[in-house]
Amino acid sequence: KIKVLDTSSRDLTPSYEWFQTDYSVTVVIYTKQKGMNSEMVIVDQQDGRLRVDIIVKNYSYLLHIELNCAVQEDIAVRTSEKVGKVEIVLKKKDNIHWSKLGEPLESHKSFIRCTERGLYYRKCKLISKTEVTHDTKLFCLMLPQSTHLEVPVGQHVYLKQIIAGTEIVKPYTPVSFSLISDFKEPSHHDSTHLILMIKIYPNGLFTPKLDHLQIGDCISVSNPGGSFKKSQVQTLEDLFLLAAGTGFTPMVKLLNYVLTNVCSLRTVKLMFFNKTEDDILWKSQLEELTLTDKRFEVQFILSEPTREWKGKQGKISLSLLSEFVKRSKKDSKVLICVCGPALFTEQGIRFLQDLGYSKEEIHSFTA
Ligand code: FAD
Ligand code: NAD
Repeated sequence: KIKVLDTSSRDLTPSYEWFQTDYSVTVVIYTKQKGMNSEMVIVDQQDGRLRVDIIVKNYSYLLHIELNCAVQEDIAVRTSEKVGKVEIVLKKKDNIHWSKLGEPLESHKSFIRCTERGLYYRKCKLISKTEVTHDTKLFCLMLPQSTHLEVPVGQHVYLKQIIAGTEIVKPYTPVSFSLISDFKEPSHHDSTHLILMIKIYPNGLFTPKLDHLQIGDCISVSNPGGSFKKSQVQTLEDLFLLAAGTGFTPMVKLLNYVLTNVCSLRTVKLMFFNKTEDDILWKSQLEELTLTDKRFEVQFILSEPTREWKGKQGKISLSLLSEFVKRSKKDSKVLICVCGPALFTEQGIRFLQDLGYSKEEIHSFTA
């Protein structure tokens, strides 16, 4: 008799083992998952505790261990895509033999849905704060040396602060240092830093306190979250971006990613809604990008322009979108990304559906 394998009951739980040399301890995790990459591995090592969170599809596999002996700050993470193996290399502080890796801590070896795994925070140091516009700044945060965390394109992190005795948490979307590759500073571009573009609301709850952080101060930063998947743009031909105000932030890494990695791409058009010209984030960089990459176009739409403004005016509307969101050829594969104030996003999605775009062709960024 041939036994039919029921794929749903096949055990996909990852497993791990460890080994040591005189100087190092290596933890090896077998995820049984092809296509593993370093974005799917989040490692924190603090006060002798190792926490490894591996994202396998929509599941999270956690290793959480009180290490047997002291280790140094820096860690190395290696992933092998083909076999789904992850290696984490810790450096021993003292050249002694470990009898065991350590003692299990809470939720060690658990394999649960990502949505069920609570947010985990580590303290990151503010290393610079630069003005983008009159009310928006770039905050550059440095991850601890003992953390490995990369925020995937289209995803956000949560910042946490204690305000008047209460923990307050708000989401922010990391950007790249610049839209123009020549200007990228390598030290800010690597995975040891997070760059956040944040608008300060003088009467807001969270951002005034954020603005008061001094260089060298620390703030708690969570693991990444969000539903955007790179597979949504893999074979894309036309990408339309509808952004309002700081709703521009997820578009930054997305632009950098598609323009460098998606070879099927023919057009990328950004429609950027703001109140006034002074509110437009990275206006000159966007204009420069239209010159350096012919696939890219940008249109600025102002809702409160001065008399001098020669460009388009108004808010998101069916007529604006019907002209803007047109396939570059019949049947071309398109994605339309929408991000901004809740009402803007809701209206945008409704208009796009009225224009005949399917749910799969529309992505809105949400927490
Ligand atoms: P809030 O206290 O929320 O107030 C914001 C403004 O609304 C103020 O002007 C305030 O006066 C007004 N307001 C508050 N309550 C009311 C009310 N009841 N009626 C009328 N007006 C009111 N922001 C960024 O700057 N950069 C990002 O990269 C970014 N990424 C995000 C990613 C996601 C997934 C989401 C959901 C949001 C993101 N945001 C981002 C927004 C961010 O999370 C905060 O909402 C924002 O920083 C405002 O925080 P705040 O507490 O300072 O202001
Ligand atoms: P803003 O108040 O400066 O408005 C920018 C433009 O948005 C306006 O010019 C207008 O064209 C449009 N707009 C505003 N309110 C609208 C409404 N009710 N209906 C239709 N259009 C409207 O914007 P801001 O202060 O920069 O706020 C940006 C918003 O984007 C915030 O609500 C923030 O939470 C959200 N955001 C979301 C994400 C995400 O990933 N979900 C990321 C970043 C920002």
